[in-house]
Amino acid sequence: MPCSSIPTPISTPPNRDRVHAICMYCQAARVNKTTWLPLQEGEKPLPRVSHGVCPSCYDQAVKQLVLEIRGLSA
Ligand SMILES: [Zn+2]
Repeated sequence: MPCSSIPTPISTPPNRDRVHAICMYCQAARVNKTTWLPLQEGEKPLPRVSHGVCPSCYDQAVKQLVLEIRGLSA
């Protein structure tokens, strides 16, 4: 019996029919688990998005949080 549910490989640019995660900080679009692409200049945001945080912004945000927490407890 053929299996029709095998996911097709995700290629770039992002498939606009899918729901995409967009970095809430830099607006990069998640292409797959490890790849985030910045939106091109003037490119419209993808129609169906959920917000996330890309790895580089995540690092920045965590560092900022740590600094703030240290500041609060000092
Ligand atoms: Zn980002």
